[in-house]
Amino acid sequence: MNAEGQWIIRRAELEQCRKEIERENRSAFHLLSIYGLLVSLVNYIVQLVVVGEGMPLFRSGLLFAYFSLLIFIDQCVIPESTPFPTVKMYLVHAPVMLLSILLGTVWDRTHQATTILMIMMFLPAFMIDSPLRFFGIQALWSALFAGLCLLVKKPPILKTDLVHALEFFVASCALMYVISTVRLQSLRRQVDTQYHLTHDPDTGCQNRIALEEKRADYFGQEKLYLIGEMDRLTMVNDFYGIEASSIASRLFTHTMMELFGEENVYIRTGSEILCVCGGAALEESLAKIKQCRKRLHAFAFDRKKIPMTCSFGYVTGAAKDQNHFQQMLQLAEIYLHQAKSAGNDQTRGAAFDFETFRSAAAESNATSAQSYEISPLTGLPRLYYFTARTGELLENVVDVSRRPVIGFIRLTRLREYNDMLGYAQGDELIKETSRQLRRAFYSRVICHVTAGQFCVLCYRSEVEAGVRHLCESLRKFSQGAVADCKAGFAEYTGSEQVTTLIDRARMAQKSIAPYRGQHLCFYNSVLDEEIRFHQYIESHLDEAVEKRYLTAFFQPIVRAETGEVCSEEALVRWNDPSYGLLMPYRFIPPLEEKGLMYKVNLCMVDLVLENFRRRKADGVPIVPVSVNLSRKDFTQCDMVDEIVTRVDRAGVPHGLLRIEITESAFIADQELLKQEIRRFRENGFKVWLDDFGSAYSTLNLLEDIDFDLIKIDMQFMRNFTGEGKNFVIVAHTIAMAQQMGMVTLTEGVETPEQYELIKKLRCDLVQGYLFDKPNSYESIAERTKSGEGLRFEREAALDAGKGATA
Ligand code: C2E
Ligand code: MG
Ligand code: MG
Repeated sequence: MNAEGQWIIRRAELEQCRKEIERENRSAFHLLSIYGLLVSLVNYIVQLVVVGEGMPLFRSGLLFAYFSLLIFIDQCVIPESTPFPTVKMYLVHAPVMLLSILLGTVWDRTHQATTILMIMMFLPAFMIDSPLRFFGIQALWSALFAGLCLLVKKPPILKTDLVHALEFFVASCALMYVISTVRLQSLRRQVDTQYHLTHDPDTGCQNRIALEEKRADYFGQEKLYLIGEMDRLTMVNDFYGIEASSIASRLFTHTMMELFGEENVYIRTGSEILCVCGGAALEESLAKIKQCRKRLHAFAFDRKKIPMTCSFGYVTGAAKDQNHFQQMLQLAEIYLHQAKSAGNDQTRGAAFDFETFRSAAAESNATSAQSYEISPLTGLPRLYYFTARTGELLENVVDVSRRPVIGFIRLTRLREYNDMLGYAQGDELIKETSRQLRRAFYSRVICHVTAGQFCVLCYRSEVEAGVRHLCESLRKFSQGAVADCKAGFAEYTGSEQVTTLIDRARMAQKSIAPYRGQHLCFYNSVLDEEIRFHQYIESHLDEAVEKRYLTAFFQPIVRAETGEVCSEEALVRWNDPSYGLLMPYRFIPPLEEKGLMYKVNLCMVDLVLENFRRRKADGVPIVPVSVNLSRKDFTQCDMVDEIVTRVDRAGVPHGLLRIEITESAFIADQELLKQEIRRFRENGFKVWLDDFGSAYSTLNLLEDIDFDLIKIDMQFMRNFTGEGKNFVIVAHTIAMAQQMGMVTLTEGVETPEQYELIKKLRCDLVQGYLFDKPNSYESIAERTKSGEGLRFEREAALDAGKGATA
């Protein structure tokens, strides 16, 4: 329950307490009035029968009249809602008591005054809040009575009257004791409630209700309003538990109370402390702040030193009214936030000024919205918050000896999950992941990066169990669907930046992406080398393009029927001065990820075009060459336009260059690719579908997009014999593609047996190590000149110019 709620409950409790006492008083008043009326009536009748007339009868009559009056007052004069009913009862009681005493003494010196004294007995019922007051009133009446008795009464009656006065005084005090024990309990509750209402139960510091009650006293006076808060308290809470954070918070509050005076310190929402000091006390207050910090720096919990810090914001000025007072506190709070964002142990503030208040309030709304951005789907903070908080935590709070780690957790195959079950279910899966993460890494810092990606800061010893729990819960939740997760963790050893650790964790996570059963990977030195290598690749790409460290290797594509080279595939190599010859699998993935592959692919187009020129000059046969494009190329630049411009500039017929696009590219952005392929074909370029069967092939793709050729993926060549599933798939794919008017190519042909079978299936073209591996132009040129190489189709180049073959 929030503070507001508690406040309402306490107010209501106090009110209830008061009402209860008043109700008790009323019912006692009521009962005793009736009881007194009955007794006095009986007494009156007895007196009438026994004595007949005189003072006793008059006294009994008076008593009867008195109780009748009480009942009348009870019913008609003091309604239920009257304020201070008990005080009024005292007032009703007093004149009657006085009159009775006079009657029993001055006006009747010859009779005992017992009945009058009985009236005293009824007073305890009306005693409400002060036994002392009761005692005083009773003592006063008794003393008055005794005094008057001494003055006017005859000795034998005097003695009895005095004894009676003493007896009744003692009896009424005893009665009061019994009643007051019950009453005092209620009173104590009332006092307690009043205290709790205005004080924080944990620290005993005044709270904002106390401030509300006292703030009017500050209006019109020059004051210093100082708001302080400990830095990193939530982190201490996260890592050492609630006990540590509440001890630290108590230390802060008590120190402030001690330094600034209990009556000037108020606890505000959260762990903010407000001190109200004299307006001229700035220097003095700053000195006190220093003392407070000194104490916090020495804070220790569980024998471990956790130096705490605190920040302050203040304003000075005289509040005119409630509104102005609120604005002053608000500005002090803004200064506090400014101090906090400037680092630890900072203080900011100034004299109150309305213009500053207005612009600071507008600005602080904007920044707080940014820093506390929360994922609406999972309710977890975003990466911005995570990196900011975690950085501080690692530097100041976490126990490095317990090996803190940052984890990057990713829901794998979320796309397929969405495709299969719809986006609503995908959202549910993400929510479930966040729930289970909270459970698995209870009280640790977790953030929702985006879609199915999360980060966590925890200790090394918690990782295995946490990831296991998450995987099992997701398996149960998705009930056989494709939900799965992979987690990478990187250890903090004392100096790393949070962003570096996140990158490392991510890298570790990615490194296990291809391995189905593996869910957890810790970042290690091999991965470290890999990251360094990736950074090298990214930062040296432009140089590699410019200095032609990137080179094209050519692999022949052979017509199945004749065994002659009818085309070539250009495959990229990076001949690096530091790393030597790099194969595509090493540098393509990091460049793909960063969206930089378009630079490589355009460079390859340039290299192929240059190669045509060289072949022509060297008299080496020319066949059409295919280049590979990546999915992201089309979003990075106008690929069609770029290629057309280059090819035209080189004066090369469009039919000599082919475009290969791998099947997996079509998983996303299919519409865009479809449109770009149409543009390529309209410009006279043949477009080939690469690696058919390697990804999540859908036959819709073939129906939807016009390809000139499909390349059957080389995985089918594994265990490729005349029977078995692979053979059936390849046979039918070839037949289907041909019926759709496409040329077919099987890649990865390594053995003569595979070649024979492929020929039997009437596949048009083949590519593979059986014929040749990808070679540099120099090696091809040399072998052709010496007559060692494969035979080139004579017509291929000619036909390519006209666009006749695939
Ligand atoms: P890909 O386009 O499917 O290229 C065929 C790959 O299979 C080449 O590997 C080639 O050397 C290899 N290969 C050819 N015949 C055989 C065989 O009989 N057996 C086996 N086991 N492998 C064979 P490479 O050159 O390492 O290229 C790998 C992949 O890298 C390519 O697959 C392509 O996806 C990508 N790639 C290569 N160059 C480029 C490029 O310039 N741009 C783009 N976007 N991707 C490229
Ligand atoms: Mg290819
Ligand atoms: Mg391929």
